Amino acid sequence: MAQQKMLQFTKVDRRTPDKRPAAERTEDFAEIYGGFATPRAGEQASRCEQCGIPFCSLHCPLHNNIPDWLMLAATGRMEEAYAVASATNTLPEICGRICPQDRLCEGSCVLEQSSHGGVTIGAMEKHITDSAFAAGWVKPFSPRIERLESVGVIGAGPAGLAAAEQLRMLGYRVEVYDRHDRAGGLLTYGIPGFKLEKDVVARRVAVFVESGVIFHTDVDVGRDVTLAEMRRKHAAVVIATGVYAARGLEISGNTLDGVIPALEFLTCSNRLNMGDSVADFDSGRLNAAGKRVVVVGGGDTAMDCLRTALRQGATSVKCLYRRDRANMPGSQREVDNAIEEGAEFIWQAAPEAVEGASGRVSGVRTVKMHLGLPDASGRQSPTPVPGSEYTLPAEMVIEALGFEPEDLPTIFGAPELKVKRNGTLAVDDALMTSLPGVFAAGDIVRGASLVVWAVRDGRDVAQHVHAYVRRAAAAPSLANAG
Ligand SMILES: Cc1cc2nc3c(=O)[nH]c(=O)nc-3n(C[C@H](O)[C@H](O)[C@H](O)COP(=O)(O)OP(=O)(O)OC[C@H]3O[C@@H](n4cnc5c(N)ncnc54)[C@H](O)[C@@H]3O)c2cc1C
Ligand code: SF4
Repeated sequence: MAQQKMLQFTKVDRRTPDKRPAAERTEDFAEIYGGFATPRAGEQASRCEQCGIPFCSLHCPLHNNIPDWLMLAATGRMEEAYAVASATNTLPEICGRICPQDRLCEGSCVLEQSSHGGVTIGAMEKHITDSAFAAGWVKPFSPRIERLESVGVIGAGPAGLAAAEQLRMLGYRVEVYDRHDRAGGLLTYGIPGFKLEKDVVARRVAVFVESGVIFHTDVDVGRDVTLAEMRRKHAAVVIATGVYAARGLEISGNTLDGVIPALEFLTCSNRLNMGDSVADFDSGRLNAAGKRVVVVGGGDTAMDCLRTALRQGATSVKCLYRRDRANMPGSQREVDNAIEEGAEFIWQAAPEAVEGASGRVSGVRTVKMHLGLPDASGRQSPTPVPGSEYTLPAEMVIEALGFEPEDLPTIFGAPELKVKRNGTLAVDDALMTSLPGVFAAGDIVRGASLVVWAVRDGRDVAQHVHAYVRRAAAAPSLANAG
């Protein structure tokens, strides 16, 4: 690749990789963004100002050394660029694709702040890592020494994977348990292929397997094996189970046929795209084709449901959100993508009841909302406008209202496992739960969050586990005391 000088932002405009036209991309579930051609990538990387204090790194949860890998990529040193990028990030090709960069690294780039347009950091991270896979530079991670101790990780999502990588690199025998039949957590079964193709996840999981990480899939901890058994088997345990208790509509008609929890809908679609058959799709229950679909909610999950329903051939797809666009929790980029693809947004409107006939959904009684003063979350609080009710006809209503933690102390048969008021696991500064030697990371600690934060937690927890196991080895009476 041609060598580029840095600081080219006055000569080279910000360019993102090409996006497929909406009419084409709604025909399939493939990713909507292409990659950079190599010369374009070098040019875009060369825009970086090489700041002494890089705000992009400070606002990346992983504190990636972004200016360094941009400079290496701009000067054609791609293998080194990958080495630097992968030193701080377990899943750089995945974060490059699905981080909300506008709120993190790119939003803090000084070029963005000075109206030049921020460096396309996410697309570069993806380009560097995809190029590394293509060139064969992504090697299994091998520890310098093999340790006698093993660590059990519950959950093969990004938090569990990041912990597994770091622990394996430290020399532990790492066994990852997941209740699904494939690793990846929400990367595999939640996030749709048009944001993250499943081959990308499988390619990364294969590196873990080659590196000696042992995956026990189809193992539901609490049902197939107890937490107590895991604690006896392993020197330490990491809980990285995510949050899966879906919030539902608490209005009349919510049990009618056709009211569907978002994750069930998305998991089914992802399974179909990986070649599985799903009985509830064949029966029509989880198939939006030919239906008028109303999605209730305004986060990333709602956007993913809208766009999945469009791809399945729904006749109309509407998003019902009680606040306005400025108050939406989801990524603005994904709202734009959904609008381009044909989703209709009904702002400041909330469902009052699901209406039905013969046990099936026929519509959603909707009320308009007035936005008042900001609430504790900083967003304006909505109140219903009296007399503004109307009915939106629908054959499918998707509940995308967020997720809460499952009741882990009950599921794991461990009442002494302390949780916070919102049900997430209580941990100390070393990410250890109330059970000695049992640590936690990712959404089950933070509540529903982002992939990049799960990776950060997974990497951090590995260091704390290592310190704990070393201490326990030095003073055996500490191990699993309690
Ligand atoms: C639809 C959707 C779209 C999203 N889009 C984005 C996005 O674009 N960008 C972004 O950054 N974030 C996004 N997120 C959020 C992101 O996916 C999560 O923050 C992240 O996956 C959390 O990682 P985790 O490892 O903590 O949990 P998960 O990814 O949820 O993984 C937990 C794993 O634990 C397993 N598990 C749970 N209980 C047990 C048990 N008892 N026994 C065995 N295994 C168990 C589960 O099967 C799962 O594989 C999205 C979330 C959803 C739902
Ligand atoms: S991990 Fe996410 S926030 Fe960090 S540099 Fe990559 S895309 Fe930006």
